[in-house]
Amino acid sequence: MSLKLTNIGELVTFDSSIEKMVTYSSVEIAIENGRIAAIGTTVGDCDELLDCGGCLLTPGFVDSHTHPVFLNGRENDFAMRLGGATYEEIATAGGGIVNSIDGVRNASESTLYSRVKSRLDTFLSFGTTTIECKSGYGLNTGSELKSLKVLDELNNCHEIDIIITFMGAHACPPEFSGDMDGYVDIICDEMIPAVAEQGIAKYNDVFCEKGYFNVQQSRKILKTGKKYGLAPRVHADEFEASGAAEVAAELGAVSADHLMAASNDGLRKMSEAGVIATLLPGTTFFLGKTRYAPYNRIRQIGLDISLATDYNPGSCHIQSMSFILSLACIYLHIPPLEALKAATYTAAKSLDLHNTVGSLEIGKKADMILWNLKEHVGIPYNIVNYPIRQVIKSGRLVN
Ligand SMILES: [Zn+2]
Repeated sequence: MSLKLTNIGELVTFDSSIEKMVTYSSVEIAIENGRIAAIGTTVGDCDELLDCGGCLLTPGFVDSHTHPVFLNGRENDFAMRLGGATYEEIATAGGGIVNSIDGVRNASESTLYSRVKSRLDTFLSFGTTTIECKSGYGLNTGSELKSLKVLDELNNCHEIDIIITFMGAHACPPEFSGDMDGYVDIICDEMIPAVAEQGIAKYNDVFCEKGYFNVQQSRKILKTGKKYGLAPRVHADEFEASGAAEVAAELGAVSADHLMAASNDGLRKMSEAGVIATLLPGTTFFLGKTRYAPYNRIRQIGLDISLATDYNPGSCHIQSMSFILSLACIYLHIPPLEALKAATYTAAKSLDLHNTVGSLEIGKKADMILWNLKEHVGIPYNIVNYPIRQVIKSGRLVN
């Protein structure tokens, strides 16, 4: 089965051979068995033909940070926060993360499956062709394993490729209130061995922040995960410089995410250790805050930068990577071409997938977005009317 894309206007992609974003015009692409077989001015005959109408073609988005395994949205929390309610007031009214924990614990596997599936359908319609999904609203062994199993089943039957992360260290569940060390023991002694035995999760993520998991607890959880074959990722320094960037560097995490408050020292250590900085401007925007990640400082220190949605029911109910590009350009001052690289190639690198997805190169998966646009600047420019003409996943026309 082969497909030829003709009449491509502008093709914008990262080129690994020169390590740069490149733009080609007037090229064709041949796809065979879901992979890119040829790119050139003429590529020969194929079984099927797609006329791209002189439009822009880019790699599909790689969303490298999401929390989609929850039961219900938290619209009520949103409304309360708009009315000035504090985190504590929302929690007292039955909202906050405890609400999501109850939802996942009480939901059947099939209910969770259908909720997550419809979210994945939306991600795909917005051009996300590869996604990292975390557990982390079960927060006991059974409910975390259930969340991971739902993701694994969806990965087997949904078009989107899912990279699965265990995040037992998302928050302290209510039954361990005041005893975070006790919960850390459960994560290390019970959950991580069970997650490793289950064999689904690739990564182990920790919310390393004051009021959540401190540096010592995070180190213990990440080290235990490594011992069981789970590679570390870190939610780092979102609210204050709590030493999380340093922990990510020390433990060799592939990515440290958020970083709004990271210290220069922490960022330098990340750079030396090759940790990717994943920036999540949707969260700052959704919470109505103004402190965005310091892109220029992070870039000057020399870190690779990835962008993701941080989709979750509490602090960022955003699924569109196009919108994240708009936020990154407007508020982080990332140039559009760099933002596109961060949302495709570097995001794939942060999931150790850059040899298969994240750029349009021969041998890679044919994951692409054909836009109703002539040039890539149109992606962040069209802030909410995502002009996607066709999403192509592994060479199949899917949306
Ligand atoms: Zn997150």
